[in-house]
Amino acid sequence: MAKINPYYKNLTREYIFPIIDEKLATLKKSVPQNEIINLGIGDIALPLAPSLARAIKNGVEEMTTAQGQHGYGPSEGYAFLRETICQQEYARYGLTPQEIFISDGTNSDATNLPEIFDPSSVVAIPDPSYPAYLDASVMAGKRIVLLPCLEENRFSPKPPAERVDLVYLCTPSNPTGQALNRQELTEWVDWAKKNQAMLLIDNVYNCFITSKEVPASVYEIPGAQEVAIEMRSFSKCAGFTGLRCAYAVVPKALPGVHALWVRRVNAKSNGVAYPIQRGAEAYYSLEGTKETRAQIATYQKASSILRIGLQKLGHTIYGGIDAPYIWWKTPNKLPSWDFFDQLIQRCHLIAIPGRGFGKPGEGYMRLSCFTTPEKAAEALYRIENRL
Ligand code: PLP
Repeated sequence: MAKINPYYKNLTREYIFPIIDEKLATLKKSVPQNEIINLGIGDIALPLAPSLARAIKNGVEEMTTAQGQHGYGPSEGYAFLRETICQQEYARYGLTPQEIFISDGTNSDATNLPEIFDPSSVVAIPDPSYPAYLDASVMAGKRIVLLPCLEENRFSPKPPAERVDLVYLCTPSNPTGQALNRQELTEWVDWAKKNQAMLLIDNVYNCFITSKEVPASVYEIPGAQEVAIEMRSFSKCAGFTGLRCAYAVVPKALPGVHALWVRRVNAKSNGVAYPIQRGAEAYYSLEGTKETRAQIATYQKASSILRIGLQKLGHTIYGGIDAPYIWWKTPNKLPSWDFFDQLIQRCHLIAIPGRGFGKPGEGYMRLSCFTTPEKAAEALYRIENRL
C-alpha cells in the first residue's frame, strides 16, 4: 500500500483562517454585512488597475489571432517580462534577465526553492512568520530552528548561534510590519558568507517601503549575490492576488544554484499564462506605475490613519511604516484570541490573532491595512468608542 508522507503528521499548528471564517460567519448572521470591517486576511481591497486589466485583455485578444497564438510558454517566463523586470529593478545591481524566474506566486517560490538544496538542510525561520515557510519545512521533514522576533529585538530576527543552511527572511515582514534596515541586512549577508548559508529573502512588500534606512532589495548589500535569493510578487504591489504572477531572483554568483533552479523549473513548471505576464509587464508602464502607486498610496493612507490613531489612543503598535501590516500589542496583556473576540463582538472588526503566526505572536494582533482610508477611520472610531 502507498504510504503517506509521515512528516505531514507533524503539522500541528492550528490553521487559523477557518476558525476566523467560522466566527465571521456567525457574526454575519447577527449584524448587517456592511457593518463588518475586515482588517484580517491580507488580501487586496481595490479593483485591478485599468491599464493592467487592458494589457491582460489585449494578451487574450492577441491569442485569438493566428500570429498571436501562444501555447506553452517558457518555464522561466517570457523574455519580455524578465527583461522588463531586470531593466526596472535589477540591472542597477549588475543582474541579468536570465537570473529572474517568473512564477505563479511567492508562496510557490518560497516553498519550492529549498528542494534544490540538500534534503538534510537545517532551515531557520523567523518566529512569528508567514505560515508557509514553517508548514513547507515541516512537510519536507526539515530540522527547523526558530528565530524569535520580539519587542526586545525590534522584531528583527538575529543570526542563530547553531549551524543552519537555509534562512528565510521576510522583509518588510508579514506579520510584524517591521523591515530589516541596512545594518541588519548587512549583518545577515556577512553572517551567511561566513557560515556558508543561503538566505531566502521574501520581499513581496517591497513597494511599501518608505524608510531611507530600509534597502529596497537585498542586492543593495555588497556580496549579497553570493548568498541570497530574493523573491517578489505582483500580488500586493500590482493587485494580482487573484491573477498569480511573481518572480525569484537566483543570481549566477550562487555556486551551482542557478543551473539547478533552471533544471528544476524546466522539469516542474509549464510557466505562467501569457496574458497574465503581459499584465505584469504593464505594471512598469507609465500608466501602470501611476495607477498602482496610487493604490499603494491608498493603503498607506489607511495604514497611517490606523497607526497614528491607535498611538494617540495610547496603544502600543509596531510596523505599518514600511509594510501594510500593524503589529498591535493587546491591551493589558490580553491573550490574542480573547482580544480577537472583543474586537469582533464590540467593534464588529476582524483582525488576526498574532498567536496564529507563531508562539511569540501571543499578545499581539495583526491589522491589515489593505482597506480604504474611510474604513480605517471607521475602524478607529469604533476602537475608540466601543472597545
Ligand atoms: N509572502 C508573504 C510574506 C506574504 O504575506 C504573502 C501573501 O500574503 C505571500 C508571500 C504570497 O505571495 P503570492 O501571492 O505571490 O503567492
